[in-house]
Amino acid sequence: MTFVSSLSQIPDEKQIRKELKKIIFGKRVKCPCCGRAMHVQQLKKNKLWRCRKCRNRFSLTSVTWLKGMKISIVDLYALIWCWQKKMNVQQACNLTELSIPTARRYYELFRDNLKLDFDVILEDKVQMDEAFVKKAFIMGMKDIKHKRIKLQVVMKKAPDKHDAMELIYQYVKPGSTLQTDGGSIYSGCENWWPLTHKRDIHKKFEFGLTSEIEGIWANLRTFIRRMYHHVTVEKLPKIVAEFEARFMHKEIFDNPLGFLKNSLSCVRLAL
Ligand SMILES: [Zn+2]
Repeated sequence: MTFVSSLSQIPDEKQIRKELKKIIFGKRVKCPCCGRAMHVQQLKKNKLWRCRKCRNRFSLTSVTWLKGMKISIVDLYALIWCWQKKMNVQQACNLTELSIPTARRYYELFRDNLKLDFDVILEDKVQMDEAFVKKAFIMGMKDIKHKRIKLQVVMKKAPDKHDAMELIYQYVKPGSTLQTDGGSIYSGCENWWPLTHKRDIHKKFEFGLTSEIEGIWANLRTFIRRMYHHVTVEKLPKIVAEFEARFMHKEIFDNPLGFLKNSLSCVRLAL
């Protein structure tokens, strides 16, 4: 018996397979090749199927990004749980008894397979600021009433007015109040988009207007340090997207099935 299999929050293999089957195929198992259910024959319960027409065999994992998975389905579930809890890789390995490279690889897979095509519009009072992280900078905005954020990595040495305005056009509702520091990239933004602009002058020790977005930067830095020590600048956009998703879509991070539903649903048919 492993550590993982004795824990109440980790179901047994049979239960996990049942849930995964529901998420991946819905009510009826369809052939990933021809898309039809009528010729599908189950070879091993909730594990292996065959299409009599196409003559191909497929499993739960072979039709998704879990293809070629080398760890057990119970370990996968446990590792997702660790990742959702923002556990660092070493501690996740202590629990699952997997190797560090394996756990690290799966953390990356989880992050890279998040489905994040959500629309977001910020309104009312919106705080905006920029932060420098690992040779790039991040433009960020927070709608303080609805607790929504939008972060964007820009691979440049310094942000300019164009970067700020592009984000505002896409994500700030006309008529909102934009709160920023005294940075020149924000000056005159109210002439380019219908908003009221309020500014703190940091040199005069005014900080109230951007305190919440600055709090987001502090959380982001802690998150990166704890979860991803070896972050390269190329990986930064996906890490920032994960952070954003954790803030905005708590249902994906509640339990492993929430994440699996988000990342595995609607299997692409190879037609
Ligand atoms: Zn088929």
